[in-house]
Amino acid sequence: MKSTKKKNEFDKKFYIKWMVIAMTAIWAAIAAVWLSMHNWDTEESMKALAQAFTEQPAETEQQAPAEQEEPAVKEEQEATEETEQPETQPEEQPQEETPAPAPKDATVYPEIDQLPSEPTIVNGILLANKQHPLPETYAPGENAEARAAFDSMAQAAAKDGLQLVAFSTYREFARQKQLYEGYVAKDGQAAADRYSARPGYSEHQTGLAFDIGEAGQEQHWASSSFGDTAGGKWVKENAHNYGFILRYPQGKEQITGYMHESWHFRYVGKEAATAIYNENITLEEYLGI
Ligand SMILES: [Zn+2]
Repeated sequence: MKSTKKKNEFDKKFYIKWMVIAMTAIWAAIAAVWLSMHNWDTEESMKALAQAFTEQPAETEQQAPAEQEEPAVKEEQEATEETEQPETQPEEQPQEETPAPAPKDATVYPEIDQLPSEPTIVNGILLANKQHPLPETYAPGENAEARAAFDSMAQAAAKDGLQLVAFSTYREFARQKQLYEGYVAKDGQAAADRYSARPGYSEHQTGLAFDIGEAGQEQHWASSSFGDTAGGKWVKENAHNYGFILRYPQGKEQITGYMHESWHFRYVGKEAATAIYNENITLEEYLGI
């Protein structure tokens, strides 16, 4: 027991002794380095040491602007977040809108108590669809400019051996009401709404819609098969040169509100018709509705 106690005391002394030597050596080394940094001049070294301590507050002052820069960095981050936001927002917005797609579905009639007192005119173009009905009293008759344009088109088609006929143009409110009610009685309202307009919602009431067929080809009148005939193809490719557009194109039912009608053309004027044809868009898309 005694010998181990003595050994412990010896170890302790030995440890302290070497610790002192080591610390002294470290401080000597630091002093040597410091002196070497200041040309081995003791006075200069002491001044530098004093400066080092007095400069410490200056260093914290230097840190202060560094801290001030942090908010600037945060602002930058916020700024980039802000610039990124518009990128994420349009993605989020449609997601917010998707729960209520009903108003965007142009095939669905809005729930309104009565027809408007004025027709909808956008950029000088009269618009009539399921979302934009016409007044019951709107009765302009067949549009003379549209008729003249059709006659020009028919003359051009005749040169290609095609006898175009406008078998249905202006239709007054009362006539559309009679037609629609007949279709509902025959096929039910859901089916009738897909191929016929409710009174006040028909483009034929504008006097600008022309249902086109070919003379002697009556079996294709008001039929999707017209689009496959020589006459149907000719009108589809040339109508815009006379100011007409294929009003209800294939695959655009959700925008126009109506299933494809290869025979229904709408007069909008050459400029609009050419743009709509070239861009392969609908009247609704052209008007930005
Ligand atoms: Zn029609």
